[in-house]
Amino acid sequence: MKYCSNCGKAAEDSDAFCTNCGRAFAQTEGDLFNRESSPNTTYSQPSYTQTEPAQSNLAKTSMVLGIVGFFFAGFILGILAVVFAEKSKAETNGVMVSEAKTGKVCGIINIVLSVVSIAAVIITVAVGISMGIFLS
Ligand SMILES: [Zn+2]
Repeated sequence: MKYCSNCGKAAEDSDAFCTNCGRAFAQTEGDLFNRESSPNTTYSQPSYTQTEPAQSNLAKTSMVLGIVGFFFAGFILGILAVVFAEKSKAETNGVMVSEAKTGKVCGIINIVLSVVSIAAVIITVAVGISMGIFLS
């Protein structure tokens, strides 16, 4: 009786491989050498590509448009910010990164503010015309 050096399971002396994990038992110096030089013992480098933060130029563009929209051409830049935010998801595996979220939120705020201010102007003009008619 012998024991697997890998998983510790008992095995028959005649077994060439562990019946539990499949590890080869070293029978001779030659076997030991072959086992140590086998490709199975090479370590693969862990991949860190999954943990890298997602980068998206579209998301950054969306954020810039959303912020600039507060000062200039809010309605147009707001729409563009939302569009770029949605497009950026394709660059970041369907995930909306923080830049894109910022751009989208700012864009929506810009659109709403623009619509409200345009409505305010229209109402003011309409009221002004009405007052003018009544006062004349
Ligand atoms: Zn084993």
